[in-house]
Amino acid sequence: MIAPGATLGLLGGGQLGRMFTVAARTLGYRVTVLDPDPLSPAAEFATGHLNTAYTHPVSLHELAQTCAAVTTEFENAPAEALVKLAMSTIVRPSGNAVAVAQDRSREKGFLAFRDLPVGPWADVRSEADFDAALGRVRLPGILKTARFGYDGKGQAAIASRADLERVFSEWKRVPCVLEERLALEREVSVILARSAAGEVAAFPVAENRHADGILDLTIAPARIPAALAEEATALATRVATALEYVGVLAVEMFVVGGRLLLNEIAPRPHNSGHYTIDACRTSQFEQQVRVLCDLPLGDPSQHTPAVMLNLLGDIWRDGEPRWEAVLRHPGAHLHLYGKREARPGRKMGHVTVCEAAPERALEVAMAIRHELGIGP
Ligand code: ADP
Ligand code: MG
Repeated sequence: MIAPGATLGLLGGGQLGRMFTVAARTLGYRVTVLDPDPLSPAAEFATGHLNTAYTHPVSLHELAQTCAAVTTEFENAPAEALVKLAMSTIVRPSGNAVAVAQDRSREKGFLAFRDLPVGPWADVRSEADFDAALGRVRLPGILKTARFGYDGKGQAAIASRADLERVFSEWKRVPCVLEERLALEREVSVILARSAAGEVAAFPVAENRHADGILDLTIAPARIPAALAEEATALATRVATALEYVGVLAVEMFVVGGRLLLNEIAPRPHNSGHYTIDACRTSQFEQQVRVLCDLPLGDPSQHTPAVMLNLLGDIWRDGEPRWEAVLRHPGAHLHLYGKREARPGRKMGHVTVCEAAPERALEVAMAIRHELGIGP
C-alpha cells in the first residue's frame, strides 16, 4: 500500500486530472502533473507541474524517480510514455490497456474478439477496404478516425460511397472505422474500479444524453429496468477483466432494441461519472486514488439521485454566467474547472443536482439549464 504523504504522478492535466488531484491531496498525497499546458486545470491544485510534452525524457525520468505511482487522465497520453514509466514505477492503468482504448480499431477488435457485443463496424485503412466495409456496414453510417477523436470530433456522417470517398480523402487517409448509425433508444455508461487483486466496484449505471456529440446531461441512476442495469454492469466487468485492467474504467454503451451494445471505453474517470462526487459514498476520483495506491476500494453506492449538466463555453457568450441561477438551488453543486478562456464546446464546468426524488432533480436541472441559457 502506498501511504499518504507519497507523491503520485499524473499524465495529463485537464479537468479530470484536476478532480483526481483534489481527491489525492484530500487524502494527503502529493501530486506531480505532467502537461504541456502552462494553464493546466490540474496543476492549480498539484504540488508540482512538469510543463513539457508527455514524452519528454527528462520529465518522464523525474516522474519515475519521484512518484510512488503514476496514472493518467486522458487516453491520448502516449501509451509508450506509460510503458516506459512502468519500468521503474507503478503505472495504473497499464500502457497496454490505454493503447487499446485510444484506438477505435483496436478497441472494437478487442471487444469483438472476446464476443462482447458491438454494433456493425469495419476498419477503413485504405481505399482497398471500401468494398469490404460497405459490405459489412449498412449505410447511413458514421466514419470515425481511429485515433484522437473526442466529443464527437473526428466523426462524419456517411450516406453513400461517394461520402466515404470524399471524407476519407479529406482526412488525408488516416486510419478510420466505419460504423452503422444505430437507432439509439438510450445511451448509458458504467464506471468501475478494478483493483490489482481483481476486485471490482462499479458505480450505478448512468444515463447519458449527448448534444452535437458532446455529453450534455447525465441522469443517475439510469432509468432502465434493473435487469438491463445488471447486464450493463456485468458487461463492463467483463471488459475490465478481459483487459486485466487496474484502475478506473468507463464503458459507454448504447441501448438498441432493448439490448446493450458497447460503444467505447475510456481508461480513466469519465464525464458521465462526475455525479459520483456529490451523489455517491466514494467519488470516481477518490476511487482512482485508492486503486492507484492499493488502498481498499471505496463504497460506490449512490446516496442521492442526481442529474449532472455539463457547462460548455457557449454559455459565456455574454460574459460570466449568472451563477445565482445555480447557487440558489439547495440541491445544486457547482464545479468550475478554472479555465481562463471560454470557447464554444469547451468543457468549463458542471453542475450536479442532488434531490431525494429523481423527478425533482431533473426538474431543477431543467430550470438551471433554462436560466443559464444552455441548449437551443
Ligand atoms: P467520442 O465520445 O469519443 O466523441 P463516440 O463514439 O462515443 O465518440 O460518439 C459520440 C456520440 O455520437 C455517442 O455518444 C452517440 O451519441 C453518437 N454516436 C456514436 N456512434 C454512433 C453510432 N454508431 N450510432 C448512433 N450514434 C452514434
Ligand atoms: Mg464517447
